[in-house]
Amino acid sequence: MRLYSSKDRPFHLGPWPLERLPRAALALPASIPSQPRAAVPHAKASLAPCFPEYFSVFRAALDGKVAPAQAPVPAEGGERSANLKSHAYFLDAALVGVCDLDAHDWSAAPLAGHRHAAVFLVEFGREAAPGEPGAGWIGGSNEERTDLRATELAAVLSGMLRAMGFAARGHAAGASAVQLERLALKAGLVRIIDGELRAPFLGRGFRVGAVTTEYALAPDLPLAQQGPLVPDDADMYFGVGGTLPGWTYEREAERPLHMGRYPMETIKRAAEPTTLVLREEIQRVPKRGDFFKRAEAGDLGEKARRERKRFPFKHPYALGMQPLIQGMVPLQGGREKFPDPGLAADPAHNAMAIKALGYYLGADFVGICRAEPWMYYSHDEVEGKPIEAYHEYAVVMLIDQGYETMEGASGDDWISASQSMRAYMRGAEIAGLMAAHCRRLGYSSRAHSNAHSEVIHNPAILMAGLGEVSRIGDTILNPFIGPRSKSVVFTTDLPMAIDQPIDFGLQDFCGQCNKCARECPCNAITFGPKVMFNGYEIWKADVDKCTKYRVTQSRGSACGRCMKMCPWNREDTLEAHELALLSIQMPTARPWIIRQDDLTGAGSRNLAKRWWFDLEVIDGVAVVPPAGTNEHGLNLGRDARLAPTQKLAFFPPALQPRGGTTLAEVVPVDRAAGLKAYQEAETPEAARARLAEAVRGN
Ligand code: SF4
Ligand code: SF4
Repeated sequence: MRLYSSKDRPFHLGPWPLERLPRAALALPASIPSQPRAAVPHAKASLAPCFPEYFSVFRAALDGKVAPAQAPVPAEGGERSANLKSHAYFLDAALVGVCDLDAHDWSAAPLAGHRHAAVFLVEFGREAAPGEPGAGWIGGSNEERTDLRATELAAVLSGMLRAMGFAARGHAAGASAVQLERLALKAGLVRIIDGELRAPFLGRGFRVGAVTTEYALAPDLPLAQQGPLVPDDADMYFGVGGTLPGWTYEREAERPLHMGRYPMETIKRAAEPTTLVLREEIQRVPKRGDFFKRAEAGDLGEKARRERKRFPFKHPYALGMQPLIQGMVPLQGGREKFPDPGLAADPAHNAMAIKALGYYLGADFVGICRAEPWMYYSHDEVEGKPIEAYHEYAVVMLIDQGYETMEGASGDDWISASQSMRAYMRGAEIAGLMAAHCRRLGYSSRAHSNAHSEVIHNPAILMAGLGEVSRIGDTILNPFIGPRSKSVVFTTDLPMAIDQPIDFGLQDFCGQCNKCARECPCNAITFGPKVMFNGYEIWKADVDKCTKYRVTQSRGSACGRCMKMCPWNREDTLEAHELALLSIQMPTARPWIIRQDDLTGAGSRNLAKRWWFDLEVIDGVAVVPPAGTNEHGLNLGRDARLAPTQKLAFFPPALQPRGGTTLAEVVPVDRAAGLKAYQEAETPEAARARLAEAVRGN
């Protein structure tokens, strides 16, 4: 947790104060030490054998076709370097630098025109201490884990540059045509100390990746090779200016890995969620009823059908992620039952080990619940075949979409879909590896990513205790990062202790706040009370309006404005943490917190954090978006205008395509029936009274 806000720190400077280190020209030594590779033998139950198939997918995306025309980006190398560094930091690089290339930098034939390189370090994952749950699975796998992440970054960044019309190739250990260590030295990311490569700030090991390109960049100077590796002063220690503080690693070490970074153990738990879930009344729905699937099939009209495939990948950055996201789907696993592996099973220990594995791989929150049959879709959408519930447990993970970038954005501008795609890509990678690991242990397991899922994530997030139902509707809100996340799930038969739902007062808070509804560009979030929808008590959003807006809006790609605007979307500082505690522990403070949020301008765009270029890929070429860019500020008072006349529709199972419908059939959305259904919805109070009556009648 930071003491100082990073609100004025440009994103391209990264999380550590790299800019404070002295720099000097360097005569490169004849021999440069290699990245250390510890000779740790893999334990029998090691995660390591799960990596190769993911390496294959990522390595295949390190090179590819270049778009036929170049994007209209600044000619100045400094601006380009800052932009490219920001892209790497957004993908969780620890340190990033730039250098020019010379003939000696290549370990294979030089690529024509590649005269520049962006170089990055990816830090090792935090490991479980010896004897802690998960240690046996994780130990000895960190180099592969981190090389895989470096390969992911190299593939995405090079893919983005190619989509912008510039020749580029990614390089990482095992698939590199350059001397990565030499580039890291030239780009000012490492020093040679006692014959070893050492990186400033990073308390764990690291791996190097790079992108070589014809895209002209302004190089950094190497680090001065004398003096202390990091500044030894109070600014560094306390993280003045919003950098990571010097106590980061000590603080981490205070918590066992399986407990994660956020103190979820301080949040109240209960056997049932804070909102009604009437399991026996929930009708399972086909995947074809999901509104993105409905858009794809043409149920929402021709424009939505046309734009559906394109909208998440309209920006070159997200387009760079596409081959990885799609390439991982075949690795997710299947439904087949495995014979009992006959291993001694301790569900409590298994749960802790699985959580440790999730945090090691980069999840921000991990929870576990039963994969109850009503959480599964009833039919697939391609062949319309029934899906029977198949695994007993669901491991649910949240991936933070990134506070700083969310601050620079309007929520529905040109970075919006890339924020989502980064989280989806990372989630698929983490859950896919974990499911593969469980299968190696002998337990049937399947990952459910955004690209392909057979379970509905929201009920699983709720039951696994990672959040409460919020006014946003189909978004479960977490007490530490608010709605700013994407989820991923994997289901498995590995026996595990399950978590309980949480209660942090959100029903009362959202009952008094309507900021997400006020700021939703298409008026899709209710200002009214919760209703019953297919067995759930929920503030039901109008997914028809929301999906149409996300898919077809032309001044950005997709939308997550409701997430950005929420007062629970807070920075990771001590101050923000205290505010969260106050809103949980003192209900009377909630109206003040809600007012303060607007009074302090929270939710406005912070231009110090606006680091991306506005680009739209049209017919395979990145251009200046013809319709412009959404740059909304706060819409104070808009609620008073919208609320009295708001009309929302919802679509219970009877108004969705029936089970067995495929994407080849068009089932137009019946909006009039949806509006009527919303008006006639049962209230949660009526449902509770009905239940009480039924209990009395028994
Ligand atoms: Fe509204 Fe955008 Fe949120 Fe959809 S994603 S509910 S359109 S703010
Ligand atoms: Fe709830 Fe307000 Fe956040 Fe909307 S913006 S989810 S009403 S706290």
